[in-house]
Amino acid sequence: EEYLQTIKETNSEVNAFVSVDDEDVRKQATNIQQKIDAGTAGKLAGMVIGVKDVICEKGKKVTCASHILHNFESVYDATVIKKLKNEDAILIGRTNMDEFAMGSSTENTIYGPSKNPANSDFVVGGSSGGSAAAVAANMCDTSLGSDTGGSIRQPASYCGVVGLKPTYSRVSRYGLVAYASSFDCIGPFSKNVTDAAILLEHLAGDDPMDNSSSAKPVENYSEAVAESSGKLKIGVPKEYFGEGLDDEIRQGIEDRLKELEKDGAELVPVTLPHMKYGIATYYILATAEASSNLARYDGIRYGHRADFEKIEEELSLERKELKKAAGTSTALEAADIDSPLIRLYKKSRTEGFGTEVKRRIILGTYVLSAGYYDAYYGKAQKVRRLIKQDFLDAFQQVDVIVSPTAPTTAFKLGENQDDPLQMYLNDVYTISANLAGICGISVPAGTHSNGLPYGVQFMGNTFHEVDILRAAKQFE
Ligand code: GLN
Repeated sequence: EEYLQTIKETNSEVNAFVSVDDEDVRKQATNIQQKIDAGTAGKLAGMVIGVKDVICEKGKKVTCASHILHNFESVYDATVIKKLKNEDAILIGRTNMDEFAMGSSTENTIYGPSKNPANSDFVVGGSSGGSAAAVAANMCDTSLGSDTGGSIRQPASYCGVVGLKPTYSRVSRYGLVAYASSFDCIGPFSKNVTDAAILLEHLAGDDPMDNSSSAKPVENYSEAVAESSGKLKIGVPKEYFGEGLDDEIRQGIEDRLKELEKDGAELVPVTLPHMKYGIATYYILATAEASSNLARYDGIRYGHRADFEKIEEELSLERKELKKAAGTSTALEAADIDSPLIRLYKKSRTEGFGTEVKRRIILGTYVLSAGYYDAYYGKAQKVRRLIKQDFLDAFQQVDVIVSPTAPTTAFKLGENQDDPLQMYLNDVYTISANLAGICGISVPAGTHSNGLPYGVQFMGNTFHEVDILRAAKQFE
């Protein structure tokens, strides 16, 4: 009731949630209360969780903040949702995001932008901005986001909450609407590191419905964070503290790291030399995968469909006019006129997708096209491997690697909207973890003199969630 009340009072400003069904939430709570009274409740009984609108929940709209899915209702639960329901969590509502998780500000959305709870002139980050803001504005205990290039960690940093991207394959992607399948990860937002550990413990695990999910046993993360981490070896990559980083953030993080050192951590300089190719590599590979994944929105099987009758009318008119002009039917045949179904496909997509999504479909189609495949897609795959190797080498020497989560605090609403490259640069510190498939967590590191929060990121080797959780807990 408290969270529902907060949502009622503040969501019109923050715009973190795109839908909340009060009656359904109360029904869940009543059922769970009965189970608690009977002593049969699950391990997450009563945890109130917001869900990014890209994760399928049976009977709920799953729109990905896109017009093309504005009327789409899921007929099944994502594996993570099933798991949360089995443990009696309360799913309070669907959170705002950048369309199809493409963006860094939660401004590319049919619902209008989310606004930073610390200052409503500023963005919340993205693409899981609604989930970050919901936790920051105390509208729920925790939330789920997805992270393809930084979409959990960067908004966590901008909103002053904890956000964790697990190792690729640690959490099932079944029921997560695909953006870039070799990068996409579901993960938690929370108010503290312990809650992130508890939630991850219940999200992670093998899943027969996702053949990329890992069969490795899930560790007891909550117990691990409760234990002392011993002497942590923390790698400090110079590439992550260089040009472009806000001075105050650099200073703030360096000061905090010195404190950690006093508490017994060892700071080790490491190098990740291919980091500078991260953004370019990501935007080739992620858009390539997106162009393929988004081909399914055809206006036929589900989602938005353009007005077919109108299309047929238009086409018959075009044909008549061409015939009049050309005079012969051969000329008409030679004319490049769509079939009605192709026109329907084009028009549905033209009407349904937003500008950024279209930009990426075109870019991805280009880098995959026959003449350019080797030069772009093939090359980028090789660079991806080099970036991964950098991390493997560094993790020979250290337990975790530390960096700022983002180069700046949240920027003003609208500031980067006409400048996609500037927008892409927000992910300069988070993107490499997705390219390498490793895990990362953002923890609040301080408040800037501009009044906005910023985070620090700990990255760990694949399946070393325990290490980053412990480092984050120690830092917290
Ligand atoms: N900002 C990045 C992008 O737009 C990452 C998004 C994400 O992690 N989903 O692709």
